[in-house]
Amino acid sequence: MKHAKRPQRESPARHTSVLLAPFHRLGDAVLGTDRATRARTRAILLCAVMYAICCAAASLSAELGLMRAFAPTLLEATCVPAYLVIYALVRSGRTQKLSDPALMVPQNVFALLAIAFAYTAVGPNDRGAVLVLIALVVVFGMYTHTPRQSAAIGVMAMLLLGGSMVVLSRWDPVYYPPARELIRFELMAGTMPALILSGFQLASWRTRLSTQRRELQEALDQVHQLATRDALTGLLNRRAMQDLLDEQLRRFERHGEHFALALIDLDHFKRINDQHGHRTGDDALKAFAQAATTCLRETDTVARWGGEEFLVLMPHTGAHKATTALQRLRSMLSETTVGATEAGIRLGFSSGVAVHEVATPLTQTLERADRALYQAKEAGRGRDVRAPSLRAV
Ligand code: GH3
Ligand code: MG
Ligand code: MG
Repeated sequence: MKHAKRPQRESPARHTSVLLAPFHRLGDAVLGTDRATRARTRAILLCAVMYAICCAAASLSAELGLMRAFAPTLLEATCVPAYLVIYALVRSGRTQKLSDPALMVPQNVFALLAIAFAYTAVGPNDRGAVLVLIALVVVFGMYTHTPRQSAAIGVMAMLLLGGSMVVLSRWDPVYYPPARELIRFELMAGTMPALILSGFQLASWRTRLSTQRRELQEALDQVHQLATRDALTGLLNRRAMQDLLDEQLRRFERHGEHFALALIDLDHFKRINDQHGHRTGDDALKAFAQAATTCLRETDTVARWGGEEFLVLMPHTGAHKATTALQRLRSMLSETTVGATEAGIRLGFSSGVAVHEVATPLTQTLERADRALYQAKEAGRGRDVRAPSLRAV
């Protein structure tokens, strides 16, 4: 009896993700798609929300007569366009190449100016509350500014507010009673240095930490380079090639991804050393490495297997294609000369090619390639010999 096919139920996770898709798209449109832009636009929108709250508080204060009547309108008229411009610049990616891509310094300067303005507009009894906002600006800056910027913002805040207090208390002593302004100034001058110092310290730690992280990464890259590369030719060394072969073997066993190995040995290399010196011999090895990496496919990997022996891993390649590639390399080398002598030294090589076969260990494939190489040498060098398939033996 044939069973009716049961309708497939969508998983709850998939259902939820379909429902949330429009929100994700909206989030991408507003915040941007790359991580750095999203973090910056998110911070800008958070600041915009805080400005909105401050503007609302200012409107309420003006209604209650605690602030000059024109101040909230002026605050809104400057904050809204300023934040629209900042958001547009950051969201569009135009600031990405700047040293301050989130425009934190301009944002901080703008905030200080807005706070200074609000301070002057609030009535004499409640003015002190505005000073708390300065701490917020300095703390915000600690996480993004350099130590110098952090200190500069703090000093600027002190000068701006302190200057306003001095000038205004002289200009209008009724609305800005000098005694009260003095108390506020003393409070600010007494607490701000601690805040500036903390900002400087935190920014210094941050800078040192990121320098250390970068240096550590560079050291790790260098260690990795030393552990996996041959110092003379820059090719993979034997150990790294062994790892790559193990990986290739796993792919072969899991997905049947066949591959060939070619063991190459330079012909009469000792003669080059004897006749032209060890340094020319080294140059010859480098020249061979350069030619091999240029000539073979990008998916092929050449490694220095021993002194003047190289191993090539050729994925998705059979014996015939492998020998064609090696012949291409041989003809390229025949047009290349090494050394400063007039005639130049021409490099020749012999190779043994083996295709890896099912249910055999990798060492066997390497041995087959080695035997084929031996035969190539025996047969007169300058040739490629394919190891016979095990099935044919
Ligand atoms: P064949 O054609 O039979 O391979 O002859 P050959 O002279 O190439 O073989 P042999 O094994 O006798 O010599 C290999 C030479 O390679 C000996 C060794 O000094 C030299 N050699 C190995 N590593 C280096 C190296 O890093 N730099 C230089 N300059 N020579 C090296
Ligand atoms: Mg050799
Ligand atoms: Mg040799």
